[in-house]
Amino acid sequence: MKVIVTVGHSILKNGNCTSADGRPFGGVLEYEYNKGIADKIAAYLRSAGHKADTLICPERRFTKSAEEKEYKLPKVNSGGCDLVAELHLNASVQHNARGCEVLYLSEKGKAVAQRVQERLAAVFHDRGIQKRPNLYMLNKTAPTAVMIESFFCDNAGDCALAAKTDVARLIAEGIHGGPIDGQGQQGQESETGKLYRVQVGAYSKIENARAMAKRLQEAGFDAIVTGA
Ligand SMILES: [Zn+2]
Repeated sequence: MKVIVTVGHSILKNGNCTSADGRPFGGVLEYEYNKGIADKIAAYLRSAGHKADTLICPERRFTKSAEEKEYKLPKVNSGGCDLVAELHLNASVQHNARGCEVLYLSEKGKAVAQRVQERLAAVFHDRGIQKRPNLYMLNKTAPTAVMIESFFCDNAGDCALAAKTDVARLIAEGIHGGPIDGQGQQGQESETGKLYRVQVGAYSKIENARAMAKRLQEAGFDAIVTGA
């Protein structure tokens, strides 16, 4: 399957971001967060055998948010891709709503939305999938399309959950329709079900072991410290 992962919103010429901003409420900036995980989602998809690209609007070029649509739609519709997945985060007026929801329009989109929703709902409150006829990313796109609202960017609880979760993996596995090995896995599961792990260091001081684990985690690996 060929997938384009698009990031919702942009930063306008005047420096304003067109997305929701949860930072004043202990949360994150929607656009910035999704820009940060788009490449990782594409990498996970590629490691599962798909073709995957990202599409992010240029920054400080547009004067109004309507230009985002004019920029993205021709690229999405001429790319010969099977699925476009646009990344968003939700926000609420009272800044007290939480959870995940995936938006769709077509029946094919509904099936993808359901799979992504199930993965995200393993961590975030399950708000269910939503059929939305009035969004250009769903009703003006030639490929199957979904819009993923992973959590609420203005809910500190949701953002704390997100900070300790590999949200990119959940989304990629939902799109793929099953678990994805590699990209952060230490071992590959063999046909016999055995898991082979690789040790990268042995230390007499726990802080040195923890420092190495931290470096590996920052590089995108699952790293654990065990004592012997
Ligand atoms: Zn959005």
